Order: sequence, then C-alpha cells, then structure tokens
Amino acid sequence: MKLLFCYNPMCVYINLAEWKKGGPLSMISKEKGILKTGIISLLAIVCAGVLYGAGAKSAGAETMTYESTANVNIRTGPSTSYATAGTVAKGAQLNVVGSAANGWYQVKQDGLTGYVSPNYVQVTGLLYTTTSDLNVRTGPSTTYTAFGTVTKGAELSVTGKTNGWYKITHNGRIGYVSGKYVQVTEVLYSAAANLNLRSGPSTASGILATIPKGTELSLAADSLNGWYKVFFNGKVGYISAPYVKKSYIHIVMNPESISVLVNKQNKLPDGYTPPDLVNAPIPFIFSEQSDKRKMRKEAAAAIGQLFGAAKQQGISLLGVSAYRSYDRQVELFTYYVNRDGFEKARTYSALPGTSEHQTGLAIDVTGGNGQCAAQDCFADTKEAVWLKNHAAEYGFIIRYPEGKESITGYKYEPWHVRYVGQTLAKNIARSGLTFEEYMGV
Ligand SMILES: [Zn+2]
Repeated sequence: MKLLFCYNPMCVYINLAEWKKGGPLSMISKEKGILKTGIISLLAIVCAGVLYGAGAKSAGAETMTYESTANVNIRTGPSTSYATAGTVAKGAQLNVVGSAANGWYQVKQDGLTGYVSPNYVQVTGLLYTTTSDLNVRTGPSTTYTAFGTVTKGAELSVTGKTNGWYKITHNGRIGYVSGKYVQVTEVLYSAAANLNLRSGPSTASGILATIPKGTELSLAADSLNGWYKVFFNGKVGYISAPYVKKSYIHIVMNPESISVLVNKQNKLPDGYTPPDLVNAPIPFIFSEQSDKRKMRKEAAAAIGQLFGAAKQQGISLLGVSAYRSYDRQVELFTYYVNRDGFEKARTYSALPGTSEHQTGLAIDVTGGNGQCAAQDCFADTKEAVWLKNHAAEYGFIIRYPEGKESITGYKYEPWHVRYVGQTLAKNIARSGLTFEEYMGV
C-alpha cells in the first residue's frame, strides 16, 4: 500500500509495508519530481510524524558499490572499438563517475579516466550501520588520531574501504572507522508491478520492454530524479523508482563463529568457504565422494559421536547432505529463478549465502533404511524422536522446529540439525526457543 501526504512545499511518499520495516521514505518536491530517498530523511521523519501521528526509523540511502567481476580493460571510449588505456583487476572496487547511454561505466581509477563494460561490473546497494559508538580517525588504523565519534546505530555514508576500515565524511572531513563495528546490509531490488523499461528517464521516453512483476532487478546505477537505470534481457533502460521494491539482508559479521546465525535475513559474505572442512566420519545414503560429506572439523567430530551413541542405543542413522558450497547454491537458485522468477524462487529456495548448509555446521540426516530422506514422513520415525531427545548432548539443535515457521522462515524440518556446541545447544533445547529467539534477533 502506498500513501502520498503533502505538506507544502513537499510531499511524503510512503510505501507502508516498507516503512513499517524501517525502510526509506521518498520525498517528492512539486517542481522537481521525486528526489533520491534519504537525502532529506530527517525532514521526512518529521513530516511523517506530524502527518501520520507516529515516528519512523528511516533508513538512509544506500551506497552503490561497483565491483569488477573479471580482469577488465579500461577503454578510452564506451565500446570495445576504443583503445585500451589500462586494466583493473578482478574484485576491484570501481570508482564510477558516470555512465554512457549504452550502459558502459565511466570510471576514474588510479588517476586514469576511461570506460568499463557493464558486462564485468557487479552493482550492489549497501547500507552501513555502526554496532557500537565508534571513533573516527584521520587514517585507516588505530595509530591515527581520533577526531570525532559516531554513535551506535548511526548510518554511514561510505565512500571507500581500506584494510578493513571504511572511509566516511564526518563533520565535513574525511575520516575512517573500523569495519569490525559496522553491520553491512545488502539491498535487493525487485519489480513491485509489471514495469515499463524506457529508453530515457521519463514517461515520454519509448518503451523497450516490460519487466514482469517479481523480477529481480539488475541495477546499472543508483536512482536519479526518480528513475533507476537497469539491465534487462540484454537491454539497458530506465524504470520509475516508486515501483521498485527493496528488501534488506544483513551480511553476517562472524561467518566463522560456531554460533553464527544464518537465515533469510542474515547471509554469509559472497563466496564464503568455511576454513576447516573435513569428511564427516559417518555413513551417507550415497556412496560417492562429494562435498555433501563435509563439515567443519569440530562439527564433523560431534556428528560422529552422535551417530556412534545412536547406534549403541539401537538407532541407525544415515547422513543425507551436509556442506553445500556457495557456487552450488548459486547454480540451484539460478535454476529456480529461471523456472519460476526471483520472488517465487525466494519463497522455497535459499538465496545464495543464506543456506545454513554453507556454514559447514548443518547436516540433514535420516533413518538407516534411507527412506523419508528430507521428507515430512521422517518426523514419525523412532530415529527422529531419538534425534530430538539427544541432539543437544552432542552440540546439535533441531534448527527448524515445528510451528516456528514465522520465526525461522522454514517449515518443520526434523532432519536438519545444526551444530552450535554443547553448552549453547543444551541451553537452547532447555529454553524451548528457536535459535533466532535465543540469540535475540
Ligand atoms: Zn538442511
């Protein structure tokens, strides 16, 4: 639901669903069309508060980051027919200063100005929030002088990253804050309706294509004057910003921690691989070598002990699937997106980085006859009952308990156990809470 409140000379555009989640408000000036969200968010809060009788937590505007996905040429003009002036390495952050009509980025990189093909650039919208009061220093380490502080919960406008420190502007000065205390949140963009892709940033421009509702949008650039520049089916064009739905997902700050919380709102950093994967010393329902046999060293030892204890008590278990790599999840998710579209695929398949199996701390198991592997019928077996009663003794929790879908994001999965260590597992089991509730998120 969208609301438009006007309070001379400004109007506040509110996407109610997003606003409730703390999402940004859009401001519209009567002369200039829609301004970039967040620029005048303080005023927006005041306006919305006055007009709606409630305060609102307004997210600031996200920072667009441009990263090269390959070693890529910088050319003197916006196509491959221009000469090469230099190269940027794969994974470099590009300093984008503009973009050509065909989508090529104008960059200023190490003193060199030129153009880079959009085929090798990943555009990501990120929000940066401090997790404690932080010193702002004159350089990117604690040896530099602190000249100010930002308070916990502040949103930073980040312009670069060096050695794990973020470059920001503070009271008109360039400063640096430690990345250890900054929560990064990725913004996902999708079409809130069937959307016209236009050749220019106005409704007077021609229609190049229609983007179906629910499509994930591949942004070419941040919104300007109420229009986003996007890529769609090999074309580059413009779409009207109010029809772009944003969703937010935190990038976990402690991916290697045994107690890391990964779910649909908290994802592992792109490409994360656990540091100490080994084959779990247990039988699986398949016989070949596979990544699916792997777990973090500590978790692998623990599942071995759990299986051993079960066997002694007459319970026979088999492994179904443990570790799943980021690349494998990308493959799977892309397959589902191509089949059903982005928004639908998200409802049943984990976005890359949000599967607990990528942590190397989770495993799906089943009974010794191999039937009901990862199926609801496992719930009624004696193996499932034993697992529920004894998993915590070996440091595991039933991660997706019955009736807690609204919290965990998953329906009951009696076969999916997650290693968190014995102390935490026992405390969680005793509390009757989900992992999310116990961790207070
Ligand atoms: Zn699972």
